[in-house]
Amino acid sequence: VLISSDGVHQQYFAQRGARADYRAGIRGLPWKPRDQMRAWQLNALNAVLRHARRDVPFYADRIPDDDLESLDDLASLPILTRDEALRAGAQLHSRAISQRSTVDLQTGGTTGSPLSVRATLSAIERHYAAFTRFREWIGIPDRARVVAFGGKSSIGDGPPWVRVPGTGAALVCAADGLNGDSIDGYLNALAEFTPDIIDGYPSSLLPLARRLKSHVHGRIRPTAVITSGDALTPFARRQIEEAFSCPVFDHYGAAEMVAFITECRAGSYHVNDDYGVVEIVRDGRAALPGESGEIVATGLLNEAMPLIRYATGDIAVPGTTHCPCGRTFPTIERIMGRADEGLFAPDGHMVGRLDVMLRGVSTVMEARIIQDAPDHVTLEAVALDTIDPLEAATIMTELRQRLGPSIKADLVRVKRIPRTPSGRYRPVQGLTTPPGIRMVPDSKTRVPA
Ligand SMILES: [Zn+2]
Repeated sequence: VLISSDGVHQQYFAQRGARADYRAGIRGLPWKPRDQMRAWQLNALNAVLRHARRDVPFYADRIPDDDLESLDDLASLPILTRDEALRAGAQLHSRAISQRSTVDLQTGGTTGSPLSVRATLSAIERHYAAFTRFREWIGIPDRARVVAFGGKSSIGDGPPWVRVPGTGAALVCAADGLNGDSIDGYLNALAEFTPDIIDGYPSSLLPLARRLKSHVHGRIRPTAVITSGDALTPFARRQIEEAFSCPVFDHYGAAEMVAFITECRAGSYHVNDDYGVVEIVRDGRAALPGESGEIVATGLLNEAMPLIRYATGDIAVPGTTHCPCGRTFPTIERIMGRADEGLFAPDGHMVGRLDVMLRGVSTVMEARIIQDAPDHVTLEAVALDTIDPLEAATIMTELRQRLGPSIKADLVRVKRIPRTPSGRYRPVQGLTTPPGIRMVPDSKTRVPA
């Protein structure tokens, strides 16, 4: 759901344009003492609330007249669901912002109708500034040669990859063109381009990594891989790191521009406090460290369409510790991805991501599980040649171990797994709604432990 999903071009152009003074101004914030940063955040939040109450019709009666006295008071405001935001439409637009200074971004989620987010150009510039700071954290120079995977809209109707000139040259690749027939072509293009960094969804990079591990494809030796857009499982991280011989740095963001959570070199996810106020909500209260909850976030950048306590539908676990890197931005222990992309065993417990089933399997590049009934799943697998029967048996055994012996499963070989317009796919499609799990509209959120 990242901005990069539909605007990879802009991402690598516009970050040069992000005003140098703003970039410099936010560079030190991640090290500010905690109490000072919280005061900074409260101030910024109250400015957003005042503006929303005054200039955004949707919020006229939804926000109290007085400023919040502490960040904890934010929890007393109502949560905004995606459905509510869709229904509110233009009621969420600020009357104080001229449409000429805005653009409408389509959020490219994997489910549901797209939410159009109106953003000011300066909000987008500040988004890029935050992204640039993330690149600085992980030591990527401005002139790095970048391979970026994005949706079809980021490269148009031509060939599946296109070179973009810029500060650092970029090769932009269409994630949705990746399949069993084209994967070697992609890898050859990457080898020829010799990227310093590769930026993409785990669902694009994992098949590339798996293919790379079993075949030699020239020299692809980036100094780092940047991932976003899908939950990065420990399995996918390891496979990508091994295949490309470099560290993976993950980040979480959304085209709604409410939250930005970035990994540092010490391996912690940090909530970028100057980008949005992030809450992890479970059963209507703040999740405790170690507990999972839904990411509910209030954007601080975008005046054109303030999203206050926006329920993202993504699940995360708050962190407990300070990071050895010294940054004081709060840590997140784990980002688990979308709650509606889980797979559920017949007894109702959530099994989660299953890419780990591909452990020890080399003839399958990627797979998708479709749960068509509580006791039946279809596993679609993409393979270059035939699937080794022993490996197919391994996958089925892993599947039964996770879902229980009563599950029935069929393995089907497919040419490709279809992508959404933004180039992502859902590795797990669970059609059954398990008992006891419900996303936020009311205060009784239940999320899997
Ligand atoms: Zn850190």
